[in-house]
Amino acid sequence: MAVSKILISKNPIFDKCPKCKEWDSLHRSRARSLGENIIKMIPLWNIFRCKACGWRGYRFTFTFTTESLKVISLYIVLIFIAASIVRFALSYFIK
Ligand SMILES: [Zn+2]
Repeated sequence: MAVSKILISKNPIFDKCPKCKEWDSLHRSRARSLGENIIKMIPLWNIFRCKACGWRGYRFTFTFTTESLKVISLYIVLIFIAASIVRFALSYFIK
């Protein structure tokens, strides 16, 4: 059975810049303050700078795909099925 991931890792270096829309212009940037260091500890995003226009900001290092949306909806269905089985069992045995 194939294992499906919900979050797919991606490298924003190969994305286009959100300001000037140029491809392959982003590179990792160092944290400048204590607050940025704390935010950088969370592995969901990193700080990037654009070589072309100088934009600096946060980009997510994970992304969703249609496969991950299918996995999430499957988990939601399983949660509802398990909850209704537990609810039925509780109402059957506890009167
Ligand atoms: Zn740019």
